[in-house]
Amino acid sequence: MPEPVISIRGLRKSYGDFEAVRGIDLDVQAGEVFAFLGPNGAGKTTTVEILEGYRKRSGGEVAVLGEDPEQAGRAWRERIGIVLQSCRLDPYLTVRESLGLYAGYYRAPRPVEETIELVGLGAKADARTGSLSGGQQRRLDVGMALAGDPELLFLDEPTTGFDPSARRQAWDVIEGLRDLGKTVFLTTHYMDEAQRLADRAAIIAAGEIVASGAPGELGDRESLPTTIRYRLSGEEVSVETRTPVTDLHELTGRVVAEGLDLEGLEVTRPSLEDVYLSLTSESGEDER
Ligand code: ATP
Repeated sequence: MPEPVISIRGLRKSYGDFEAVRGIDLDVQAGEVFAFLGPNGAGKTTTVEILEGYRKRSGGEVAVLGEDPEQAGRAWRERIGIVLQSCRLDPYLTVRESLGLYAGYYRAPRPVEETIELVGLGAKADARTGSLSGGQQRRLDVGMALAGDPELLFLDEPTTGFDPSARRQAWDVIEGLRDLGKTVFLTTHYMDEAQRLADRAAIIAAGEIVASGAPGELGDRESLPTTIRYRLSGEEVSVETRTPVTDLHELTGRVVAEGLDLEGLEVTRPSLEDVYLSLTSESGEDER
């Protein structure tokens, strides 16, 4: 297997006598969209900032694009792109001017027009950044991180505060990054986002990785019960079962045989959110 783009072994970080990250292991492969999930205070920002070279670790080994972020220099930094929760730009510059300015800081920048297209700001290329909507601003933030044509992008909660249609558009941008072969390390609080975008995901809770794998397989989802809901003779029924096929067969057979009506029948598999909530509530995060 090729060397992972991000490799973390036994990573620890303490703030005074509080251990925020407690010995985590993770690998992210080239070209993957990797989602890093966890409740507030779980240790996501701490971990990401260590990977970006902005924080020193207390213990363990970290390699990002083959280098230790604590030691890496300018050439390494140009290979990574970082989308912070919000960048401050000169509001009087246009989208094209801002991207051009940023591209000027890099030795091998990405063509500005390509970046504008990729983030879907073609119609706003000549608009001043101060006039952009929140969602457009966020797309520009992604464009800024792409200015140096990085191999690896860190996206920190890229869709927080977006309306549903802006979220879909942002997802398209992230899928576009995947199509370009970029590696994306995404932190998010939205399970549907991870489900939709991530090749693999890890859940951190109280400084420890509590699950990792493909979103569909996280936390042994297959072993969690399916819920069957319906109304029968005006009464709401909700049943949790590990044998939904047999139960549904028995239920519908009985209803048909007795000439009854089954209203509002719903069969629900546990979502990634259910798995997440069950895993993160076990970690005692609230007591931290
Ligand atoms: P959120 O989803 O709220 O952004 P997070 O998972 O990113 O949370 P971190 O910011 O990594 O969490 O914080 C992890 C823990 O470390 C928290 O309990 C936080 O209070 C603590 N912490 C973070 N930075 C510092 C610091 N500079 N000094 C002391 N404690 C800190």
